[in-house]
Amino acid sequence: MYNVYNQTEGNNAMNYVERKAYAKINLGLDVIRRREDGYHEVKMIMQTVDIWDRLTFTRKSEAGIELSVGGVDLPVGEDNLIYKAARLVLAQAGIDAGVAISLQKNIPIAAGMAGGSTDAAAVFHGLNELFSLSMSMEDMMKLGVKIGADVPYCIMGGTALSEGIGEILTPLPAPPECILVIAKPDINVSTKFVYENLHADRLTKHPDIDGMAEAIRQGSLDGITKRMGNVLETVTVGEYPIIDKIKGLMRAEGAVNALMSGSGPTVFGIFTDRSLALMAAEQIRIKELAKQIFVTGFCNVR
Ligand code: ATP
Repeated sequence: MYNVYNQTEGNNAMNYVERKAYAKINLGLDVIRRREDGYHEVKMIMQTVDIWDRLTFTRKSEAGIELSVGGVDLPVGEDNLIYKAARLVLAQAGIDAGVAISLQKNIPIAAGMAGGSTDAAAVFHGLNELFSLSMSMEDMMKLGVKIGADVPYCIMGGTALSEGIGEILTPLPAPPECILVIAKPDINVSTKFVYENLHADRLTKHPDIDGMAEAIRQGSLDGITKRMGNVLETVTVGEYPIIDKIKGLMRAEGAVNALMSGSGPTVFGIFTDRSLALMAAEQIRIKELAKQIFVTGFCNVR
């Protein structure tokens, strides 16, 4: 999942680390209740997919975090989760040296694919390697939750049942292989807006997340796809009908099922036939329903 290059001849200290930060989708997403503190208690099936940002980490002798971003317009200071994660790790480890981090962004932004959280997760792994910090996965996950509720999952990756506010994780085996069409319509959806407008107490339908976890354990793609559901669609689809249009198109073009990921607006369709998946992606492009379209698959390498 990552490559390490030692660029210092005759010196064992690592100067440069490269890392891929994978995006996620939610095969299922349920909200149990709104807690008194305003957080929502969730129950989700998380799955990493083969769409990734590339991060590089270079050690600097002078202190400080220097972030550069390629491909998109994103903050390079404290507002970037990469910066926040790096500051936390360096402070925690008491490191005086600095680090230059570069991000090449491919994951759609504000899409429901945990783009920021997965970059932050890559920082934990990257700096752990660069500075030989010997943090265990558990150490990193405990620290990661301070940056965001999805960060511990992104540190772990793969397939998982996620509970609590997202920080209680149960790893699951990889689901059977399939072809995914992932399309992000050209609209921006704020996660905050979606949760604020969700009436968890009024939900009448809840996806069977426990049943889906069991189907994953049994390796049944059929058992997974027939349980796909996301309660956040009750907010987002009403606001942005294009989401339903893309889902409908994917199903009409042969998807076994299609769903919005996270708080949206990204939609994914599960296909068992690659040529149908490619045709569906082409139709989405021709009808201008989305600009960012991927034909990809699950990614369970760790
Ligand atoms: P989630 O699925 O966790 O809700 P998302 O895919 O909806 O995440 P992100 O792509 O993580 O949303 O971005 C949400 C906001 O966070 C963006 O508007 C952006 O300004 C900010 N942000 C900070 N750091 C990053 C980063 N490294 N990558 C992307 N966005 C970032």
